Amino acid sequence: MPTNQELKAKAMAAIDDRADWLLDVSKTILANPEPGFYEYKTAGYVSGKLDELGIAHQDGIALTGLKGYLRGGQPGPTVAVIGELDSLRVPGHPHADAVTGAAHACGHHCQIGMMLGVAIGIMAAGVQQELAGSVALMALPAEEFIDVEYRYGLHNEGKLGFMSGKQEFIRLGAFDDVDMAMMVHTTSSSEDGKFALGGTSNGHVTKYVNFLGKAAHAGASPHMGVNALQAATVALNALNAQRETLRNENIVRLHGIMTRGGASVNSTPADVRYEGRVRGRTAEAIADASMKMDRCMRAGALAMGGKVNIVTLPGYMPVINDLGMTDIFRDNAEQLVPAGDIITHPADLNRGGSTDMGDLSQIMPVIHPYTGAATGAGHSIEYIVEDYVQGVINPAKAMAMSVIDLLARGSAKAKEVLDGHTPVMTKDQYVAFQNSRLVEELYDGSV
Ligand SMILES: [Zn+2]
Ligand SMILES: [Zn+2]
Repeated sequence: MPTNQELKAKAMAAIDDRADWLLDVSKTILANPEPGFYEYKTAGYVSGKLDELGIAHQDGIALTGLKGYLRGGQPGPTVAVIGELDSLRVPGHPHADAVTGAAHACGHHCQIGMMLGVAIGIMAAGVQQELAGSVALMALPAEEFIDVEYRYGLHNEGKLGFMSGKQEFIRLGAFDDVDMAMMVHTTSSSEDGKFALGGTSNGHVTKYVNFLGKAAHAGASPHMGVNALQAATVALNALNAQRETLRNENIVRLHGIMTRGGASVNSTPADVRYEGRVRGRTAEAIADASMKMDRCMRAGALAMGGKVNIVTLPGYMPVINDLGMTDIFRDNAEQLVPAGDIITHPADLNRGGSTDMGDLSQIMPVIHPYTGAATGAGHSIEYIVEDYVQGVINPAKAMAMSVIDLLARGSAKAKEVLDGHTPVMTKDQYVAFQNSRLVEELYDGSV
């Protein structure tokens, strides 16, 4: 029986052989960015690449998601390797789509290259049959929780239950046969070194708020109108006044964008829309801040004598990185970069942002390490992946080697990880909890 290190050497050599192909995949996705639940071209492209590798797969899961399998020589646990399909919208980014403003300003294009790199490594001659278990290759839609009005519309049409890729995959049962999961995200933070492990993220809920007023001639008869933009202004000022009530340790973030401010400058705005985000360290902190945001939105409508429709959408849960999987990943990363360039953050180090990998981490062991491959602030026009070896090839190797450690030798390590892991909730509890967070309220401030 070959040693794990012999299997890893074969996997790494295979990934190196196809490195140019993998980088071409990532750069092609970079050049064709699509936001979440619009990734039809990207999904078709990834499907073609899986076909090219001879990997049977399903597509159209949660609209644009894909899932394929590599089966080992013996049965055993299933390890998912995840790549995210979606871009952001950051107009002005050097790789932005000129029409839609879509841009890979979070580096997700690298993740699909990594996922296919893991597939190539595991399919290297003499590796796959030594594994006891399966690798699920999963390309998931919509990690960035954006375009809320569009997604809520898809929800109301019955096309989506939850409004992010991993949430919806969980709800649909696409993770029911998966035992543990891993993915690697790019980072530009100097505090993350070449690889960063551990840490956590904020949870959140998202708001879709519609201020409803009454149109009137803005010059001749504003007294006959109800100005929904003024209602929103009062609401946002009230929201800002809440900040002194938020406890520092809860890392609450209240932020949002106006997606509609009115229709004509000479007509009192009657339909004004706000997309808001409430983030926090715990479910309790989020619930408290969410209640305050709702109160402020109502206050705006009340002040102007209008109405406001407030939809609260179930957002993400904080990430819990599994310690056993983290150790395995770190050992393998040390074969790729100097140990001093691998940072292990404390489990409670909250990065402030949010990811639906946090949702998955509530129901199974996961890791969500970062790879230091980019420059510029995340989600900005300056966020560029500069180092594609560290952005795609090294994470693919680290994950392929970790899969080998988990599933070789009768999958003893994977079983150890599963034995040492207690999920926070079951899938059914997760779905019920998230469903309970979807609330719609129409408040009438005119009476
Ligand atoms: Zn992002
Ligand atoms: Zn991201």
